[in-house]
Amino acid sequence: MNSGNSDECGRADAADEPPDGAEDPSSSHAATIARLTLTLSPPGSENGTTPSPTTRKNGRSSGSKTKPNGRAAKGNGRAITGTGNSSQGSTNGHSLANGNGGELGHSALANGLGPIALNSKSTRSSQLPAITLPSAPRGRGCNPRTRAWRKRFFPAATDREWNDWRWQSRHRIRTLEQFERMVTLSETERDALVRGGTMLPVGVTPYYLSLLDAEDPQQPLRKTVIPTTSEFTRTAGEADDPLGEDGHSPVPGLVHRYPDRVLLLPLDFCSTYCRYCTRSRVVGHGEIVPNEARLAAIFDYLEKATQVRDVLISGGDPLALSDDKLDWILHRLRSIRHIEFVRIGTKMPAVLPQRVTPELCRVLRKYHPLWMSIHFLHPDECTPESAKACGRLSDSGIPLGSQTVLLKGVNDNVDTMKQLVHRLLKMRVRPYYLYQCDPISGSSHFRTPVEKGLEIIEGLRGHTTGYAVPTYVIDAPGGGGKIPLQPNYVVGREDDFLVLRNFEGKTYRYPDPQSPSMIPAPHGSLPILEGVPADV
Ligand code: SF4
Repeated sequence: MNSGNSDECGRADAADEPPDGAEDPSSSHAATIARLTLTLSPPGSENGTTPSPTTRKNGRSSGSKTKPNGRAAKGNGRAITGTGNSSQGSTNGHSLANGNGGELGHSALANGLGPIALNSKSTRSSQLPAITLPSAPRGRGCNPRTRAWRKRFFPAATDREWNDWRWQSRHRIRTLEQFERMVTLSETERDALVRGGTMLPVGVTPYYLSLLDAEDPQQPLRKTVIPTTSEFTRTAGEADDPLGEDGHSPVPGLVHRYPDRVLLLPLDFCSTYCRYCTRSRVVGHGEIVPNEARLAAIFDYLEKATQVRDVLISGGDPLALSDDKLDWILHRLRSIRHIEFVRIGTKMPAVLPQRVTPELCRVLRKYHPLWMSIHFLHPDECTPESAKACGRLSDSGIPLGSQTVLLKGVNDNVDTMKQLVHRLLKMRVRPYYLYQCDPISGSSHFRTPVEKGLEIIEGLRGHTTGYAVPTYVIDAPGGGGKIPLQPNYVVGREDDFLVLRNFEGKTYRYPDPQSPSMIPAPHGSLPILEGVPADV
């Protein structure tokens, strides 16, 4: 996540390895803290090395042009040669409803069906209406597109490997050579990868790459993760830090822009890099690492900042941290008495849903109230795997909201956005914010006119469930915070009546006394509460 204090997500380490190495079986805080003290060391840059000062600052040093591709290509060559094959560990879309045992009732209730097992063989279940959750992945737990792609490019990967988020993270596609094996690159994509030095690193999980169209560079998801030369174009009004976060950072890795809430950046790693990321200036550069000293300074600041009641952990993707590190961070935050709740911003359920394991959920559910904002962009991201991840999080009692960036050629039309919000609601994710794309350097090819966002909101409001309509906001450049934008439904005023138009364009008058001549009804309430056709 990246938008100001909200962010579209959270992420993991900068090295091209699973962020935290092997999972430690111990789960006690004492053991965790001891281990962190001993083992936390700054990972290298996204390329697996410590970046030079020049590269760190802008990611455009000459050295960054070729080294990343060369090294990563080697690593991936080995990785693709997996071993063995098995059919273990498969789950399917029905397990979204029943994979969590006793949580069937939640799924059923979410669909307005009452606490009835969806797959029950009882006569009652046979009378239930059809469930229209995302189609059930059968067989080995993948959606059909992903299964076919995996068979082609990772035929030796076992189910256990494919469904292991660390395996996915280690096998990210990052280099020109890797992309060329799997995607027919357009000239502009190829040029961008050859040239290198984009502000943001390149990296896509195998799972997410399986959702891309290998032949069509205009496919929405593909546009968001494979760079093009448009990223090198700078236009007026763009900035590397458009939200002015660096100016609101009292301690490295902490943004304190609003009095009562802060943004905590534990790391700058993401499993998949979004080409429009607001934090391109830091994400993937290997400068923000989850080491104890840095985090201790943040906790120290927060202990003293008694006005802070809400902490958003984002990044980089916080779910790229190991369970133990996340456990430790959440424990420290929840130990601070004035912090009332914590939010996590992440894109993992969309780009690496395998990360949402039962073990992760066991950690998260210890720290309620805990909220989560998930960065979803497009209906194609709402796969059975993604639905299963969201189901697990919901069943763990975590309220889920989505944050979506409005992007040209990706989701900038009412039909696409309506499909997205409908699928999100079925996945128990409430559409929360729709962001106007921030004027990050090199983002002009992604930005739409503001009118487009208003058109989309107008196409949703009244035309679908209210829960499906996100709040459209511009994060004000320079750190002004989120400013909500709405289509104008106020037509004008007629004396003590406000004239409004509804979603169908019909006008109504609402009593809205502006003068003392308006006599209140005897019981003190407004005389009319429902819209009165204005006949205009
Ligand atoms: S690159 Fe990472 S931090 Fe940036 S928007 Fe994507 S997931 Fe969020």
